[in-house]
Amino acid sequence: MKTAVINIGCKVNQCECDSLMTGLIALGHEVSDELVYADNYIINTCAVTKEAERKSRQVIGKVKKINPNAAIYVIGCASEKNAEQFEIKGVRYVSGTAKKDAVFEMLSGTHISPIPGAYESLPIGTNFRARAYVKVEDGCNNFCSYCVIPYLRGRCRSRAPDDVITECRAAAETTDEIVLTGINLSAYGLDVGTNLAELITKLSDLKARIRLGSLEVNVIDADFIHALVSSNNICPHFHLSLQSGSNEVLSAMNRHYTAEEYAGKVAMLRTYFPTAAITTDVIVGFPTETEETFEETMRFVREIGFSNIHVFPYSRRAGTAAFPLGALPEDTVASRVKRLSALRDELKREYESAFVSSELDVVIETTDGIYAEGYSENYIRVYVPDRDYPAGKIIKVTIEGERADGLVAK
Ligand code: SF4
Repeated sequence: MKTAVINIGCKVNQCECDSLMTGLIALGHEVSDELVYADNYIINTCAVTKEAERKSRQVIGKVKKINPNAAIYVIGCASEKNAEQFEIKGVRYVSGTAKKDAVFEMLSGTHISPIPGAYESLPIGTNFRARAYVKVEDGCNNFCSYCVIPYLRGRCRSRAPDDVITECRAAAETTDEIVLTGINLSAYGLDVGTNLAELITKLSDLKARIRLGSLEVNVIDADFIHALVSSNNICPHFHLSLQSGSNEVLSAMNRHYTAEEYAGKVAMLRTYFPTAAITTDVIVGFPTETEETFEETMRFVREIGFSNIHVFPYSRRAGTAAFPLGALPEDTVASRVKRLSALRDELKREYESAFVSSELDVVIETTDGIYAEGYSENYIRVYVPDRDYPAGKIIKVTIEGERADGLVAK
């Protein structure tokens, strides 16, 4: 029996897919994470934007073309939000964000389990990738006004530290890089009497390097910095969600910091990690964003000097606090996305070019016989002439020059 487990969403979804594949292998299934011919397909959906939700539905059509008789199981945020949209011929089971491991017990119908109050354990995930993603937390209490995720994933709940450490130790046998992920990673441990700084300290003797997933800037304080500085294996790459550089828009988004506070936290990090990559997400076209507040964001982004930015056009989600505010004209949003993306490309190039002639440690992910590719500790895509490097292992390289999408090394 072959089962394909398809992820449409974030790294947390990816970790859940890995855990499901691990459980399926234990049940004797042949598994794949690609859209290949299979008897069963489990689709872990995403609702973070309208586009993600559309892709989640679209993949069902693709699956039915590959195998019209396949059993399709739909789980995740988009089905939690609106299960009916997946009640399509061929879909056997629709569930939400809870009890994802029940897919093989429920062979038909729609079943949305109540969102749990405590962390719901899936099997300890096997690492199927060059870099391992380890999920440590689920849910979010922040209720940013544009975001539907707290309604779909429930409140913050953390995985037990011992469980995290066990999965990280197992992953470190297969890869030199582990990425810690959560829906709100910064809130890790607060519900179980610990915190992210303590977890970083507990993982600091691991032989794999640790990359932190997306962080809320408020997590950065003296204890957090101390844990980072004392760690032997933390990557100098910090992804700090910004969303806007305007205090007015940040307040309307229900983000809990000002642009000045954000800049102060970046300065703290750079005191100890002067060449660290600082990456971020920015939402363009929030309904209260004006040309002036968008320009504030552009100025702020330049002032911080981000090494990369995920630029998201605002996606209006029913049920969120911002939904009644409507949406800006599409062409206004598209033009701002274009301007911010151009600035992102300029800053990225500026940051990366400073590493020409430097040595970087690259975890190799893919090879095509000519070049091997992977990410450096500071999250730069690096290309190295292929010498049969093993995937998931660090190689030390000297950077020789730039490419459109990264750097080239010897
Ligand atoms: S922090 Fe905000 S954007 Fe992130 S999941 Fe929570 S509510 Fe959504």
